[in-house]
Amino acid sequence: MVLKLAIQKSGRLHEDSVKLLKECGIEINNNVKNQLKATAANFPLEVFFLRDDDIPQYVEDGVADIGFVGENVVYESQKEVKVAELLGFGKCRLSIATAKADTYTGPAFLQGKKIATSYPVLVAQFLKKNNIQAEIHEISGSVEIAPSIGLADAVCDLVSSGSTLFMNGLKETEVILQSQSALIQTPELSPEKSLILQKLLFRIQTVKKAKGKKYVLMNVPTEKLDQVTSMLPGMKSPTVLPLAANGWSSIHTVLSENEFWEHIEEIKAAGAEDILVLPIEKMIL
Ligand code: ATP
Ligand code: MG
Repeated sequence: MVLKLAIQKSGRLHEDSVKLLKECGIEINNNVKNQLKATAANFPLEVFFLRDDDIPQYVEDGVADIGFVGENVVYESQKEVKVAELLGFGKCRLSIATAKADTYTGPAFLQGKKIATSYPVLVAQFLKKNNIQAEIHEISGSVEIAPSIGLADAVCDLVSSGSTLFMNGLKETEVILQSQSALIQTPELSPEKSLILQKLLFRIQTVKKAKGKKYVLMNVPTEKLDQVTSMLPGMKSPTVLPLAANGWSSIHTVLSENEFWEHIEEIKAAGAEDILVLPIEKMIL
């Protein structure tokens, strides 16, 4: 029995999808160009490589049991699939953008206007929610040039940095969906396959927890221990070990990257020395 996973064949999500599997200890042999399918060597998983737009359909039909795909694609597709886990990569926003010179006053600005998008379903939902009547012009790509060629008054497109919009004389005016890649699953999964999925989800959660976390070690004069430990937001209480050198102790703790930078100066000022920061690969709490 194997679980069948659909991932993007090529594009923005492909590499991160393969990387996540690798971090979960799952090796897939995908060196062959134009390969459609691969089997994991050390986990009951078969991987299909597909266009991202096709993934929700395949998962709804049960051709694939699960898939990694952007939430934007899932919700636009309106397929009967369940989002089982958010994966933390492929982050972007689906946003309305208008010409830089326009004064955007809120959704009412769009009344009677023409909006170019590859996401007609999500745009229609947004308009309906805001009681706006506007014309949706569906195009499959290069949405951002629509206003400059007179095809539309506004666009609704995926944005991450906003530089593509800016280069096309547009500005982001309204976020209609925050999106990241998600693990979706078919509505009917056999008990055997559910068990494999549980194992995979456990591994994914373990990897996700460790993301951005650092293992931090430092030496502290023993009389400063209380002061330094009170500055550490750590997981539970930090580990404190006596050092061979008299009057010194070593503190071990786990901090997020942000917490580390926020507290490092005061920790140093309190007398901590020899501070080491190590990456964490997996975390089971
Ligand atoms: P495919 O050939 O598989 O249909 P595609 O061209 O539709 O690929 P990509 O451009 O590779 O799709 O984007 C895949 C997903 O990456 C998007 O659906 C979205 O979830 C995510 N993404 C993250 N940032 C961005 C961005 N700035 N622009 C577009 N998509 C982004
Ligand atoms: Mg696509």
